[in-house]
Amino acid sequence: MERSFVMVKPDGVQRGLIGEIISRFEKKGLKLVAARFESLPDGRVQEQYREHLEKPFFPGLKSYITSGPVFLMVWEGKNVVPIVRLLVGATNPAEALPGTIRGDFAIDIGRNVIHASDSNESAAREIAIHFKNDDLVGYSAIAEPMIYE
Ligand code: UDP
Repeated sequence: MERSFVMVKPDGVQRGLIGEIISRFEKKGLKLVAARFESLPDGRVQEQYREHLEKPFFPGLKSYITSGPVFLMVWEGKNVVPIVRLLVGATNPAEALPGTIRGDFAIDIGRNVIHASDSNESAAREIAIHFKNDDLVGYSAIAEPMIYE
């Protein structure tokens, strides 16, 4: 089973969207294997967004992500990375379809509520930035035969 790293950003936390977001992934049939609530140190924000360090929006992105606590999660499932990206919607909420998290709950690109890994490689890299192997809880979900053929 593949894994994806998902982060409810400080605006999503402050707006009370943690439960709504977890609920959407649970109802889809994905399995939560790790979670933590914390304020991210600058170093981990830089690692997380290393491909954006030189972009003009990076200073604003860093102050946004460090403006309050975030909710970090690892979700597991077949094709979880593309599935979660579809549920999250386009990076710019102005282009995110209704029914997606960003389409339903966000307006500005710099306040787009949630992060989700964009490939299996970035998922592995991002999970390793924020979680130790021991943080990932292995268990079998009893509904699995009802979700997977
Ligand atoms: N971002 C921004 N302005 C931009 C582009 C990106 O503030 O012009 C922020 C936004 O929060 C986005 C994050 O930087 O979610 C990472 O950008 P990326 O292109 O990797 O999008 P994502 O993978 O989050 O959809």
